[in-house]
Amino acid sequence: GRRLPVPLFPGFDTLATLSHIMSTGFDYSWFILTKKIIQKEFALSGSEQNPDLTGKSWRQVLGRATSGIPGPVKAFMEKGEDFIVEANLSKLVAQMNGLAGEPLLDVAQVEREIRARDMQLDNPFSKDAQITALRGARAYLGDRLIRTAKPHKMLDPANGPLIAVRLNILTRKTLGGLQTDLDSHVLDAAGEPVPGLYAAGEVAGFGGGGVHGYAALEGTFLGGCIFSGRSAGRAATKAVG
Ligand SMILES: Cc1cc2nc3c(=O)[nH]c(=O)nc-3n(C[C@H](O)[C@H](O)[C@H](O)COP(=O)(O)OP(=O)(O)OC[C@H]3O[C@@H](n4cnc5c(N)ncnc54)[C@H](O)[C@@H]3O)c2cc1C
Repeated sequence: GRRLPVPLFPGFDTLATLSHIMSTGFDYSWFILTKKIIQKEFALSGSEQNPDLTGKSWRQVLGRATSGIPGPVKAFMEKGEDFIVEANLSKLVAQMNGLAGEPLLDVAQVEREIRARDMQLDNPFSKDAQITALRGARAYLGDRLIRTAKPHKMLDPANGPLIAVRLNILTRKTLGGLQTDLDSHVLDAAGEPVPGLYAAGEVAGFGGGGVHGYAALEGTFLGGCIFSGRSAGRAATKAVG
């Protein structure tokens, strides 16, 4: 029933968030959000928006932002086994406990956390780091229009209903691959280059051999893949004279 510690918010340091969640002894966490958040922030995630962008249709992109809860998200709200929708917090928490199979969450504790967060909305110089980040995101017009809901009080029924989503941890990337040096030369078990063998892109480890570090930050993969391909090409060309 506690918020994740700063700065383990969605979209920040995913690996640190995973370590924290696993340290609780449970392999899932809960999102608590409102209808206003889900319609904007679940609507435009991942590949769902790609046809709009790749088709260069700004009208379609903006249409998604204004057309309410998109069909697939609505279907999850109605049928998803990890989605709970309730008008008030006590019913929401009761259902969350029901889904967990044991009364792990104390409604008074959850309410304290949300109220403390909501109160910070009255403060333009909020010390709540997540609210500050939301305001920062909305300073960028693109996020303001289609990605980040206007900060609002979650316990105000006008913003409801409340929604809880149980987030189960799953493995999406292994982050493994062939070990390479800075010339994209594949290294053997002893750390020595294998003559004539190069690896670039995902096969060399995530995002081209982890050139952006090991936090696997979303959106930083293609650059490393292309860069490691260039290194491999240059080194191979040099090797053959
Ligand atoms: C859903 C999704 C969203 C993503 N979003 C982003 C993003 O926003 N920003 C970002 O930077 N990165 C993103 N990535 C990661 C990025 O797309 C990949 O890191 C990058 O495309 C990998 O390029 P690659 O050339 O190394 O490998 P791939 O693009 O996987 O190319 C490997 C190729 O090898 C072919 N192949 C496999 N086996 C054989 C075989 N035996 N013989 C011949 N060919 C074979 C495959 O068909 C494929 O074409 C995303 C990935 C996914 C899956």
